[in-house]
Amino acid sequence: MFLMLRFLTACLMMLIFSDFVEASKIEGLRLYRSPDRTRIVLDLNQPVRYQTFTLEDPSRVVIDISNVKLNAGFEALDLSDTPIDRIRTGMRDRTSLRIVFDLTKQVSSKVFSLQSNERYGNRLVVDLYDIKKRTSKRLAGIIQQVNRKIVIAIDAGHGGEDPGALGPGRIREKVIVLQIAKRLKKLFDDDSDFIGVLIREGDYYLAHRRRTEIAHNSLADFFISIHADAFSSPAAYGASVYALSTKGATSEAARYLASKENRADLIGGAVSLSLGDKPDALAEVLLDLSMTATLSSSLAAGEYVLKNIDGLARLHKKRVEQAGFLVLKSPDIPSLLIEAGFISNPREAKLLSDTTYQQNMAEAIYRGMVQYYLDHPPPGSALAVNKAERLKTYIVLKGDTLSQIAQKYKTSVDNLLRYNNLSSNQIRVGQRISVPPR
Ligand SMILES: [Zn+2]
Repeated sequence: MFLMLRFLTACLMMLIFSDFVEASKIEGLRLYRSPDRTRIVLDLNQPVRYQTFTLEDPSRVVIDISNVKLNAGFEALDLSDTPIDRIRTGMRDRTSLRIVFDLTKQVSSKVFSLQSNERYGNRLVVDLYDIKKRTSKRLAGIIQQVNRKIVIAIDAGHGGEDPGALGPGRIREKVIVLQIAKRLKKLFDDDSDFIGVLIREGDYYLAHRRRTEIAHNSLADFFISIHADAFSSPAAYGASVYALSTKGATSEAARYLASKENRADLIGGAVSLSLGDKPDALAEVLLDLSMTATLSSSLAAGEYVLKNIDGLARLHKKRVEQAGFLVLKSPDIPSLLIEAGFISNPREAKLLSDTTYQQNMAEAIYRGMVQYYLDHPPPGSALAVNKAERLKTYIVLKGDTLSQIAQKYKTSVDNLLRYNNLSSNQIRVGQRISVPPR
């Protein structure tokens, strides 16, 4: 009898308790569309319990969330260009919510929860992957020809739910870097010896690993990741060029930025890196070997890019720095990470959002890469064939004088003046000087 009473009391307590358990709240909804995925993020005030299943004819993805209140409207989401026809919600009983995604075509879905981090609270993420035959070899045709174009993969950092660094006046890194990346792509596309491939084409997040995978699928010769970061002090300034380091970082700032960038996968909601990602000892040795070769190319190209940026922006450091950036860890593609400036510095934030400055930054990176490849043309590339012709044009770098250029091409200053219709020895950074044939 006593036991029975205890049991009843316990039941009563639980009932009372469960009435007191505050329902979770869905406080916000976001949708990001990338080329092969639609992501819907539910922002929650605390973790929820959920179940999910799919139904056919017509295709639906259903999510049941227990003990939750919906304080946001799905109507506000833009469903155009997504496989979602509409989103319906209803309470199944007093506290559990059912969300139904009515689909126009089959998808493969993945639903997972993410814990709160420095940027966001708890989230439930619904990823709907398009099912289609991969067309990523679209570039292969161009590339396998003789005289192929050099493929430059251009990665705009962050994106989607990861805004990157925030500057004054709501300036966001993810927006600025995509603008610079698009300008850079256009410069390469306009050059008949190159082609630019954007890793991220819009406002969505891609995991670091996925970024290098896209570069691989595009058969990229080089990978450039563009950022514009923040520092705790608004006084920090300057552009920097980084290559990967497999050992340690070359400076405190480099280490700080690398750890900051590497956390992006957490903020951006990539499914966590598992232990299976760890290479075994042999794989690590092989990785190290191919890494060393690509690293020296990365460092060499970085010097050219740095020299060109020098004429445009103040430099944070006068050499290519190194740190363990995850996004640069591609064993067979030389890679650079370019910090175009500090978005946390009011003066640089203003510059970075200026379209002329963005264009100049893109041109500096482009010039650096072209100069690097003119000195190291890949065998079989169109550039290797056109090199002699192209070398007849010299692009002025910071600190150059006309007499140095004349010396370099074994001609005279007078010859250069006459050939270029110049009236004085004054030259400016970025100016093209045609070199007379000998
Ligand atoms: Zn960044």
